[in-house]
Amino acid sequence: NPFTKDLQVTAIRGARRYLGDKLIRTAAPHRILDPAAGPLIAVRLNILTRKSLGGLETDLDSRVLTEGGAPLDGVYAAGEAAGFGGGGVHGYRSLEGTFLGGCVFSGRAAGRAAARAVS
Ligand SMILES: Cc1cc2nc3c(=O)[nH]c(=O)nc-3n(C[C@H](O)[C@H](O)[C@H](O)COP(=O)(O)OP(=O)(O)OC[C@H]3O[C@@H](n4cnc5c(N)ncnc54)[C@H](O)[C@@H]3O)c2cc1C
Repeated sequence: NPFTKDLQVTAIRGARRYLGDKLIRTAAPHRILDPAAGPLIAVRLNILTRKSLGGLETDLDSRVLTEGGAPLDGVYAAGEAAGFGGGGVHGYRSLEGTFLGGCVFSGRAAGRAAARAVS
């Protein structure tokens, strides 16, 4: 339906128009069982979490906070476990390539705070 405003269809049309995607990521529309468009290829998928989008609540020293907001003594969390893999510091605007930075940053904060706590 050329008049549809369905977001997924709109996104597919956008991808087909974008030259980078057009060259390597899209196939010309065709009937799925059309032998001329074959061969069909089966792909075994393994479910994998790419972004946690959540995790243990921490403060700026990566100390894990309890429900009441007080730090849990001696417990730190960083990276995905602390929600830095997805939203984290980037919030809704987190894009490809922005996860590792927050993970490393929160790990550094945790390491420094833990070292301070025992020195
Ligand atoms: C397919 C994919 C593509 C990605 N692409 C990008 C990208 O292009 N750019 C980007 O910035 N980020 C990307 N990310 C996200 C980024 O890789 C992760 O956010 C980041 O690696 C998380 O680091 P982490 O140290 O917090 O957790 P992890 O790397 O998950 O490390 C956790 C470690 O803990 C270990 N572990 C788990 N349970 C136990 C246990 N009980 N005892 C001991 N060890 C345990 C695990 O084996 C693992 O080694 C991608 C992620 C995926 C899955």
